[in-house]
Amino acid sequence: MPRSSIVIRNGTIVTMSGDHTVLRGHDLRIDGERIQTIGPDLDTTGAEVIDATDAIVMPGLIDTHMHAWQYAWRGLAARMWSSSAYRDLFWFLRETYTPEDTYESTLGCGHEMIEHGVTGVLDFFHGANATTEHADAAFEAHLATGQRVQLAYGSIVADPADRDRFARAHRQRLAGADALRARAEAEARGLIDVGLGLVTPAREVMGLFLDEVGHARAAGMRMTFHQNAPGEIRAIHEAGGLGPDLVPVHANTVSDRELAWMAEAGMAISATPQAEVAATRSVSVLRRAIAHGVTLSVGVDTPAVLPIDLLGQIRLAYILLQHTDAQAMHEAGRIAVDDVLDPRSATFEDVLAMGIRGGAAAIGLGRELGVLREGALADVVVLRPRDVDAAMSDPVAHVVLTAASAHDVDTVVIGGVVRKRGGALVGVDAAELERRNGAVRRRVLDRLSR
Ligand SMILES: [Zn+2]
Repeated sequence: MPRSSIVIRNGTIVTMSGDHTVLRGHDLRIDGERIQTIGPDLDTTGAEVIDATDAIVMPGLIDTHMHAWQYAWRGLAARMWSSSAYRDLFWFLRETYTPEDTYESTLGCGHEMIEHGVTGVLDFFHGANATTEHADAAFEAHLATGQRVQLAYGSIVADPADRDRFARAHRQRLAGADALRARAEAEARGLIDVGLGLVTPAREVMGLFLDEVGHARAAGMRMTFHQNAPGEIRAIHEAGGLGPDLVPVHANTVSDRELAWMAEAGMAISATPQAEVAATRSVSVLRRAIAHGVTLSVGVDTPAVLPIDLLGQIRLAYILLQHTDAQAMHEAGRIAVDDVLDPRSATFEDVLAMGIRGGAAAIGLGRELGVLREGALADVVVLRPRDVDAAMSDPVAHVVLTAASAHDVDTVVIGGVVRKRGGALVGVDAAELERRNGAVRRRVLDRLSR
């Protein structure tokens, strides 16, 4: 896909910059992979013109916790509690995956994310079997969709109680991640960065976890991990392991003291609102992270159970925050009847920023992504609302409360390349994509009945 010049014309631009500017009737010009300028009546010479009259122009959404390789399992485990699905179903199915299954799943998931305006993703890849072929397949699928990806290379192929096998798998994973990272630097035109999906830091594998952190830090790789059990952040802190390159996912059980250490270390959390609610976990971390100044980002988690729609997760984060605030208020014996008593811990802008600026920070691109301004990377979404007058009266509130996600996403530009236009993916045969998605899903599920 060529990168050239694009002018998005006459839009309502939600810049997501610090002062939350909304620029009405403005143009946005992209040259190559970056935003060249924003202003009224820009020169369109030599540029592809995309009309954004009556539309909202905003930075692309960034999902910071997705397992794209599980896309073939969608619809499979809606009635299972999260850990039982993994124990009884998912790990068995993983053993049966071919690299082609991984490729097709990742490709389908990436395309559906782009449909929903998700331009960037932290893909936690724990779908490796014994070789590196599955990770290569995930990488190649990401190359094909053109999404901006941090591919967190991980795998939990062995039981930690089986120490030898576990240690061997651990060494293989680090070598595989290094090799794939070198490949990404050579082939991915700056769009794919390979990091580490760390082992879950249960007490008995904390040594391995810290080993992985050391390996990644020495190489300048970013890291993410599933943070579920209480006390893990404390243990990592005491070992000197916290840092801005480390993104805990879920983090429901962190204490306020741990949040203070995370704020000091400049860390971002990946919150997965629907996954938390589905597993009846606490979501108080949303409100407490805001209070402690820890950056929040938002992720979907497994597509086996959850919708790909990140805007829906942002909306749910807003609802949960409001709910938590209301609970605190009622427990204090107060009733929110006027603005003086308004207990809200976050504005619409703050909540939307979790899915954009928070995401950019979590993938290490906080300085050049997540804001529409001159020189920023050109990951841009155009939303075309049905009810224009209502949407334009408060575009940010509209996006958080009302926008109908994939349906309303008219145009998606990633790194200066148009990936969706006029409501359809560019260069993708929709019927063929649907056929392939159906085929891989049936192929993978067929193995369940054998
Ligand atoms: Zn996960």
